Amino acid sequence: MDQSSSLLRSIPSIGQLLELPAAQRLAEDYSPALTADALRMAAEALRGQILAGQAREIDAAALISAAQALLHEGQQMMHRPVINATGVLLHTNLGRAPMAECAAEAARQAALHYTNLEFDCATGSRGDRLGPIQAVLCEITGAEDALVVNNNAAAMLLVLSSLARGQEVIVSRGELVEIGGSFRVPDVMAQSGCTLIEVGTTNKTRLADYERAIGDQTAALMKVHCSNYQIVGFTQSADIGQLSALAGQRGLPLIYDLGSGALLPLAPYGLRAEPTVRGSLAQGADVVCFSGDKLLGGPQAGIIVGKGKFLSAMKRHPLMRALRADKMTLAALEATLKLYRDGDLAARRIPLYRMLTQDEGDLTQRARALLALLPAGLRALLEIVPCQAQVGGGSAPGEMLPSVAVSVQPFALPLNELYLRLIGAEYPVVARIHRDRLLLDMRTLRDEELSVLAQALTAALGDKENA
Ligand SMILES: *Cc1c(COP(=O)(O)O)cnc(C)c1O
Repeated sequence: MDQSSSLLRSIPSIGQLLELPAAQRLAEDYSPALTADALRMAAEALRGQILAGQAREIDAAALISAAQALLHEGQQMMHRPVINATGVLLHTNLGRAPMAECAAEAARQAALHYTNLEFDCATGSRGDRLGPIQAVLCEITGAEDALVVNNNAAAMLLVLSSLARGQEVIVSRGELVEIGGSFRVPDVMAQSGCTLIEVGTTNKTRLADYERAIGDQTAALMKVHCSNYQIVGFTQSADIGQLSALAGQRGLPLIYDLGSGALLPLAPYGLRAEPTVRGSLAQGADVVCFSGDKLLGGPQAGIIVGKGKFLSAMKRHPLMRALRADKMTLAALEATLKLYRDGDLAARRIPLYRMLTQDEGDLTQRARALLALLPAGLRALLEIVPCQAQVGGGSAPGEMLPSVAVSVQPFALPLNELYLRLIGAEYPVVARIHRDRLLLDMRTLRDEELSVLAQALTAALGDKENA
């Protein structure tokens, strides 16, 4: 006891520690106040160790390096890159689409500098925030007019608030989608102050069902793309062409919530044909809305394209200001959209399309490269196995993409523990458990990530107790 109380008394004061050159360097790198706080925490921890009989001497250098570790930890980003080995290409919990290099660079430039966001460099007068993006969107979709808000949920809110507030919107019962995170189409309709008129049944809705529901209170017909589920079997629905003809006869706008918003036909990528934005407009939809970070492969955004007379009302709506996108989003989106002027360019530069176009040979090669990076004697059975990846993010529901995984069956570790160790790694790795194996799907990985992945796997399979 005597010894520990004299040890406690000999812990230097924070003021004394701050005068040491090593602490001064920390104060310069971080700040004097943050350094003092970290030193206080380190001294507090040392006091605890002394009282527990675990420390027998005072080492000022050790106190300062403990403070440095705390400062470093405090600077560590809680938001950080993770390795997606799930095989879900558009994983909403992992930030959906990774962006193209040029899109990330555009966002970076916009972030670091002043930009001409609302400034017309030809005249020096106030410019239109959405002007440039509108031009590109109209060019690649064939639309008359276009605008951008923060996400597709915001787009729906704006479309419905400006076109149908206080009136009725007719939707098929089979299309009242819940997107995920409890986001439901009927709830957004209620928020926008319009009344939902459901027609048809879950599996069958005919054109005549819409026709019968139209009355003096009807403001619009709406179709919602079944982006995250399929209705199969005994089914029927009215297509955009039929609905457009009906809406046109009755002088009503036809709204189409396309959800995933493919700008390219997907059949060449081995996926079932998803409706494209251009195709939907050509078939007669008056207003089409979709996400920027699903099949488009860009930043989170909600894009609205369609007839000028409807979009100009939206642009003037007070919600437009509340939902407007920032300069980084607009820059990244412009850069992404410009790639779509040439389908091949988009397919080569947008990570999502690169992931879709890899064949089983490419994926097997990546799996072999991963195995080659692992040390001998790991305590697990490692095999290259076929598996199924999926698009995800509420796109191409139920559609599986043939893929290749490295399967891991640990000898001495529960699978769930292995999964948790991988997500807890410094550079987290998110794998998937399928039956009695942990699968690392090669389709959502990039070659540059393999060495980090190999390190994480090696550490996770090691015995933590004896490490
Ligand atoms: C994903 C989706 C939404 C929501 O889009 P966010 O960009 O996530 O807000 C709305 N409608 C449909 C049909 C969708 O698939």
